[in-house]
Amino acid sequence: MKAGLTPMLVKFMRNCLSERIVDSVMVPVNGPGDSFPWMLITDPEMLENAEPLPPTMSVHGAKALASFAQTSGEGKILVILRPCEARAAIELSKLEQIDLENIVLLTMDCPGAVPLSEYGENGITEPDWSDSDTVRPLCRQCTEFTAVGDICLALHGNGEIFVPLTKEGESLLASLDMQTDADTSGWRKWADNLTEERMKIKETERENLRNACGGLNGLTEVFSGCIGCRNCRTVCPICYCRLCFIDMKDRRSPAGDHLDHSRKAGAARFSTNTLLFHIGRMAHMSLSCVSCGMCEDACPSDIPIGRLLSMVSGSTTDLFSYNAGEDPLAPLPLNTFQKDELHDFED
Ligand code: SF4
Ligand code: SF4
Ligand code: SF4
Repeated sequence: MKAGLTPMLVKFMRNCLSERIVDSVMVPVNGPGDSFPWMLITDPEMLENAEPLPPTMSVHGAKALASFAQTSGEGKILVILRPCEARAAIELSKLEQIDLENIVLLTMDCPGAVPLSEYGENGITEPDWSDSDTVRPLCRQCTEFTAVGDICLALHGNGEIFVPLTKEGESLLASLDMQTDADTSGWRKWADNLTEERMKIKETERENLRNACGGLNGLTEVFSGCIGCRNCRTVCPICYCRLCFIDMKDRRSPAGDHLDHSRKAGAARFSTNTLLFHIGRMAHMSLSCVSCGMCEDACPSDIPIGRLLSMVSGSTTDLFSYNAGEDPLAPLPLNTFQKDELHDFED
């Protein structure tokens, strides 16, 4: 499936640039040493090394986009992303960290990403739709693997077609004289069936995780191997605070506090901030986590941090009937917080 995808998307991007439908294209390229850096390309000839769906995810596309698109530039940009990257971009637009005004998001049916630590090991160099062992744990339970953004390149069920999902997407396809009303019933059926299958996997995994890390003792156990490297925070596309609460000076316990804790309990563990950091992050992230799995892939201690955040996020978003990254116009519950609500949950 991958073999046909790259040439088709490269041709599409080239047409968009040469017909001046967009001014630039943001896409990963084949870099040195099996790396896939993001590039902003204006010259159609430079698309030769484009790799629209790299086998691994090293830098999240929404994070790359946020690094330069906080305010809308003059030109239109076509951005090629995986569905979870496009959903994060939509969340970041609500947090005023990306301006989507001049941006067209194009995604494709996503087979998932190979874990960074396993890429090239045991012959795994590509995600395989038919072998879930080739992809990261959160990709195995991903239910939003397609149909996100303005245009989606559908690969299953109806052959390979560009499907417009918004007016923006429809107008871009129409500018290239491409069909905008192709039959998509087979693709939608394929997506519905796979979503149903993945929902079952997700529910089972979440149940197991809930049993393993319920309560303070469970959480302490899960995070017992945490080395405090903060990789999970660094790679997360959503972690939106300019200065993390955990790094604020007045958050650091003075020596006296440690001594007091030690006197009370007989001994005090150093780095008491581990649980505080993770619980604080859960509280901040739980409405906008897009379950992309970047944090878990970057964790050197094999902590199921992505699945945990995704599970907590599932409960919070259900509470607010909100789905992170789905609808650019749905207000972020954090922004519409009312003092007088959710009293049922206070006790
Ligand atoms: S979580 Fe995995 S399968 Fe889902 S969109 Fe992201 S990379 Fe693709
Ligand atoms: S918390 Fe983890 S899974 Fe959620 S958006 Fe951030 S990196 Fe992705
Ligand atoms: S990446 Fe893993 S080890 Fe590092 S702080 Fe996060 S959970 Fe802890």
